[in-house]
Amino acid sequence: MTELNGLTALVTGGSRGIGRSVCLELGLAKANVVVNYNRNKEAADTTVQEIISLGGQAIAVEGNVADSGDVQDLIKTVQEHFNGLDILINNAGITRDTLLLRMSEEDWDTVHQTNLRGAYLVTKAALRPILKSNAGRILNMASVVGVTGNPGQVNYAAAKSGLIGFTRALAREVAPRNVTVNAIAPGFIETDITASLTDKQREAVMSQVPLGRFAQPEEVAPLVRFLVGPGGSYITGQCIHLDGGMVMA
Ligand code: NAP
Repeated sequence: MTELNGLTALVTGGSRGIGRSVCLELGLAKANVVVNYNRNKEAADTTVQEIISLGGQAIAVEGNVADSGDVQDLIKTVQEHFNGLDILINNAGITRDTLLLRMSEEDWDTVHQTNLRGAYLVTKAALRPILKSNAGRILNMASVVGVTGNPGQVNYAAAKSGLIGFTRALAREVAPRNVTVNAIAPGFIETDITASLTDKQREAVMSQVPLGRFAQPEEVAPLVRFLVGPGGSYITGQCIHLDGGMVMA
């Protein structure tokens, strides 16, 4: 299926992990893919080459989502290169885990700047071209932790919870323009973010997952593809759990 043929998709943090997998999946659907990254040019270039070798179109664009100058440049580059923007995936995210009593202001601020301010800056800059699209879609990568909480992740849980609120408010703002805005709340996915968990932490997490395992990034990407494609046309303001059953509501 090539349902995104002719559409342009920007994936923030597309160089590694979930973002990389999303880029490949959107490339398979024949979107023009913009692989944004912060520092890891090599990984971003590899993602671009993989998309091109599968017959798709892609470019890598450096830029820190928390920096408004970088974000302006990013959106300008996207528009110059692909002449528009239809789909935005706010995926870039980081963790700085520690208990609140030990959490520095920097731990708090850095996590909020990337996970929440980043989504605000990129979405604001991308909104005008997306409103002009006939197939406008915005998708935010939240987390199960933004719903359930998690010890050691007060900063991250607050930012992801904020991102879910952002999703719902914006969904209402842009619905009259036929743009959908949704969030995905992944549980625990095998990427660099979860690679730092100790065996004890992994066991503790696993006991909370009815399906009894972590997921692979390739298990997130098809949901993204569905939501930003024609199948997602009547879904907006939702936070969809992809968490092996951790949250059942
Ligand atoms: P990851 O493997 O660590 O990859 C993070 C990606 O974000 C990289 O491409 C990185 O770029 C980019 N990035 C980080 N800071 C950035 C910034 N300031 N500006 C632009 N790009 C930036 O992470 P992941 O596990 O795939 O996570 C992706 C998203 O899913 C995040 O929002 C995360 O919070 C969320 N999530 C993950 C899990 C999980 O279990 N893995 C669960 C729930 C939610 P560089 O390569 O240049 O560093």
